[in-house]
Amino acid sequence: MQTVNDFNFKNEKVLIRVDFNVPLNAEFAITDDSRIAATVPTIKKILADGGSCILMSHLGRPKEGPTEKYSLKHIVNRVSELTGAKVHFADDCIGDSAYQLAAGLQSGEILLLENLRFYKEEEKGDLGFAEKLSKLGTFYVNDAFGTAHRAHASTAVIAQFFKGKKCFGYVMAGEISNARKVLDNPARPFTAIVGGAKVSDKLLIIENLMSIADYIIIGGGMAYTFAKAQGGKIGKSLCEDDRMPLTLELIEKAKAKGVKLLLPEDSVVADNFANDAHTTISNNDAIDDQYMGLDIGPKATDVFCEAIRASKTVLWNGPMGVFEMSSFEAGTKAVAQAVADVAQAGGFSLIGGGDSAAAIHKFKLADKVSYVSTGGGALLEYFEGKELPGVKAVLD
Ligand code: AMP
Repeated sequence: MQTVNDFNFKNEKVLIRVDFNVPLNAEFAITDDSRIAATVPTIKKILADGGSCILMSHLGRPKEGPTEKYSLKHIVNRVSELTGAKVHFADDCIGDSAYQLAAGLQSGEILLLENLRFYKEEEKGDLGFAEKLSKLGTFYVNDAFGTAHRAHASTAVIAQFFKGKKCFGYVMAGEISNARKVLDNPARPFTAIVGGAKVSDKLLIIENLMSIADYIIIGGGMAYTFAKAQGGKIGKSLCEDDRMPLTLELIEKAKAKGVKLLLPEDSVVADNFANDAHTTISNNDAIDDQYMGLDIGPKATDVFCEAIRASKTVLWNGPMGVFEMSSFEAGTKAVAQAVADVAQAGGFSLIGGGDSAAAIHKFKLADKVSYVSTGGGALLEYFEGKELPGVKAVLD
């Protein structure tokens, strides 16, 4: 896997696919710049070599071409502050003005291109659009893990125009190497914790992990589909009835493969989906009709945390309950602490992006685990065993 460390970028105009899809408030101020900050080391390496950077990204989901709200011009100043470099802005990502600005770019300078998704061709993976973008630079770097599972023009299709002159940035390289640590010969026992709302979103990852993990822990809303499929009463808890047969198949598969599948024994149940609802503890197979399970219960929490603490490798994707509400955060918080304890004891714990990353930040444990992935969908697909188009295109 070649990264920016393997090249010298003197006099190269390096076209970098970054993920600057940052949240903006109503005044277009950035409310969380961590995605920009993550790519700064890649940019600085290239500038320090004597190269220049042409940054391309999407922002939001513009439907109909250029839209003020989704303009990358709002982040020019922050990119300049974080990199300490002069940043020019091209108000169109292709076309004469972009080419002129790219041609005039000096070593040590940055050109930020307008939102790629102002062109429908970006998400369609249009070859002609990718070729037009490719003409802006002399070298291609992909540092956008969050979109690596999409075969878009700038994430995958463009790479073919840079034979021998393409590589990964530090964000991509970090994401891939940390995921590989879990997938290839993990230190054992290896426990995968899968939670979140819907079992349908996580079926493929559970199936793939069956061939790798020693323990698979299931929590969150998805556990109730398993419970009902096994004949349990789950009250008003989340359930995907059409997936019940598949959950039974997963239970059988785990037995056949000798994987220990841990399902929650009990839950914190509530009479309402609200923080101030009336709550009680119930066994998972006997939830009263008026109640819904919104967090794992104390017995499940103990069993899960014990298995996690006994592990040398842990992958965590998806919360154990509705951790956004304080009444239903205890299970997720305890699991987060156990996952952190594994890393503190010398093991390896990887936090999948999305809601598990939000939870680990909420409980202020992000610096106590081995790695927090930035890519929700991309990481999920990687652990489903799929080849990510944005990764493959750079390796080809
Ligand atoms: P996902 O995006 O599939 O990882 O799901 C994360 C979401 O699932 C979070 O917003 C949680 O609030 C929600 N969630 C977790 N457990 C439950 C539950 N028992 N009932 C309803 N929602 C849940």
